[in-house]
Amino acid sequence: MIQINNLIKEFEGFRALDGVDMTVKKGAVYGLVGPNGAGKSTLIRHITGVMRPDAGEVFINGEPVYENAKIKGKMAYIPDDMFYFLQSDTINMMKYYKGMYPDFDEKHFYKMQEFFPSIDVRRNVRKLSKGMQKQVAFWLALCCRPELIVLDEPVDGLDPVMRRQIWSIMLEDVAENNTTVIVSSHNLRELEDVCDHVGILNHGKIIIERSLTELQGNISKIQIACPCGMPKIPQDFKVLHMSNIGRVYTVIVRGNPQDVVAAITAGEDSPQVVDVLPLTLEEIFIYEMGGEDYEVKDIIY
Ligand code: ADP
Ligand code: MG
Repeated sequence: MIQINNLIKEFEGFRALDGVDMTVKKGAVYGLVGPNGAGKSTLIRHITGVMRPDAGEVFINGEPVYENAKIKGKMAYIPDDMFYFLQSDTINMMKYYKGMYPDFDEKHFYKMQEFFPSIDVRRNVRKLSKGMQKQVAFWLALCCRPELIVLDEPVDGLDPVMRRQIWSIMLEDVAENNTTVIVSSHNLRELEDVCDHVGILNHGKIIIERSLTELQGNISKIQIACPCGMPKIPQDFKVLHMSNIGRVYTVIVRGNPQDVVAAITAGEDSPQVVDVLPLTLEEIFIYEMGGEDYEVKDIIY
């Protein structure tokens, strides 16, 4: 649905985007992760057609997005600063959105009101708390019935309960409508339970882009109780990391968990207990990108 090729953007000689390549499939929930200053907001302003590339291309449904009204009408965008948003009360904002978005669903707006009981829809959005302002932004974005929702650090400033609530409303809605979502964060952990694709942006480049299914089947974390010293891992599986507490070893290996376990337990003197442990996204990326020593640790924390 989104194809970005060699996107370059400079600000007064400084390259904020340095040849970004990115692919987002229809229906994906794509996490754009990178440290502050990596270029996430700049990239997002290109995806939303607000900024004109210096070089390279941004296509949505095969068309260049810059100043493309047709595409923008099918896209909802919650920017990192919501300044533009703080003009009026929620009802008036809703009417404004209804005028802007051809597919705006007013019925859906009132139906969703029960999810936002703390919002006084007649109060100027500017006077609501920051968390409430974000809620209103999410609420209106979903009612636009967009094909694509773009969220720039959307849950910054929200408490954990509110985050969970917003995400559950959001994810249910996007799953139902097969909406594509791009969400940025400086913290991979924040996107752990939300995304099915992750791209990592650093110094203006996407350095790795993966689907979670691709990642999760590829690296395994196995716990082995081994009475006779270090467990032997069959050579087919590259050991990325091994640590132990007494006789219990934790190994991270490249390969599918079922295959690894089958291979470890195949021999006659096989270890007593073998457990497959879940890997966090963080661990997966650290090992995927070359292990603990690599600078990726600073990138995704
Ligand atoms: P992120 O959202 O990942 O924190 P940004 O895209 O906001 O990163 O910024 C990337 C880099 O580009 C930063 O060094 C920032 O200072 C610079 N930058 C962003 N927007 C502008 C601008 N309008 N003018 C000059 N420099 C900018
Ligand atoms: Mg930003």
